[in-house]
Amino acid sequence: MSIAENAPSYIRAISPYQPGKPITQLAREMGLPVEKIVKLASNENPLGMSPRARAATQAAMDGIERYPDQFDLTAALAARFGVGMEQVVLGNGSNDVLDLAARVFLAPGRSSVFSQHAFAVYPLATMSAGGECIVVPAKHYGHDLDAMRAAIRSDTRIVWIANPNNPTGNFLPGAQIKAFLQSSPRDVVVVLDEAYNEYLPPADRVDTVAWLKEFPNLVVTRTFSKIHGLAGLRVGYAVTTAEIADLMHRVRQPFNVNNLALAGAIAALDDHAFIAESYEANRRGMEQLVAGLKRLGLEHIPSHGNFVTFKAGDAVKVNQALLKQGVIVRPIGGYALPEHLRVTIGLESENTSFLKALEKALDRTR
Ligand SMILES: *Cc1c(COP(=O)(O)O)cnc(C)c1O
Repeated sequence: MSIAENAPSYIRAISPYQPGKPITQLAREMGLPVEKIVKLASNENPLGMSPRARAATQAAMDGIERYPDQFDLTAALAARFGVGMEQVVLGNGSNDVLDLAARVFLAPGRSSVFSQHAFAVYPLATMSAGGECIVVPAKHYGHDLDAMRAAIRSDTRIVWIANPNNPTGNFLPGAQIKAFLQSSPRDVVVVLDEAYNEYLPPADRVDTVAWLKEFPNLVVTRTFSKIHGLAGLRVGYAVTTAEIADLMHRVRQPFNVNNLALAGAIAALDDHAFIAESYEANRRGMEQLVAGLKRLGLEHIPSHGNFVTFKAGDAVKVNQALLKQGVIVRPIGGYALPEHLRVTIGLESENTSFLKALEKALDRTR
């Protein structure tokens, strides 16, 4: 008998998360110098990190022998969103807070609802807690909120909504999400994952945290990994009701966010110049990539994030041909999109390198 059989079947059924290929790994595999590699695979900020956050994390090395204190970042976020500190839960990346929500509300015999092509962490978090996944077919690659509401069962405890969604980039206007909340049972938690919120044009951004007064079942999550450029520090958060936050704190590791991440996040939150610069660079890069994909005759899914997903045909071969040229993008067969590839918006020069490599890759595979 294998020791693995002692793990619950729902743990054994999990397929591990497939991260973007690290630059160092491709360098080893292809014998390429690290500097020649363009990585557009993980929706990281091509401008790097907020300079204010860099200074703050460096300063936070003094005191690294002490256990972290979450007070200052929690207070800063509470002030930013106009909520009480008891409504904020910090995470080791927002991935962590998604997992906390799952551990609080899911268990064997309970289910969660999410869309086909939605973020990979929803099935992972659900299954780790022993819950059942109810995957609702997408509509035009995006969330079909009516079908998702209809899919809610009496054992459903969480509905996951990514807005914008990764890897498709689809966006749901605030009014549609509000209508979904209004028409859904109030005892089912709705986790609204807004990892890409800061990339939305101001007219599309909605103060969803303000809805907490009306919807005591809402959990809004955000991250410092994307526009703030702190993916490697691992810090994200949830804003929810005091009641739900209290439950999430019970299963949270006491020191889940480290000193450097806390200091970096506080500084990044107020680095408005860096946020504006990142937003603009993304907008321009998106135009460049979309124009390039059109020029190559490739269909793409209109995206509201810092990435764009396009139909590559034989995506496995195209991806392989890109890797040979030192360009890393993300195959998304695991998201039931085997013909698509997702590319993160990079610097202008990186986008150009990607488009050139893609043109060659298509010539080779057609
Ligand atoms: C990147 C991403 C996250 C955030 O991940 P972190 O753990 O905060 O780095 C959350 N949700 C979606 C949909 C994402 O794409």
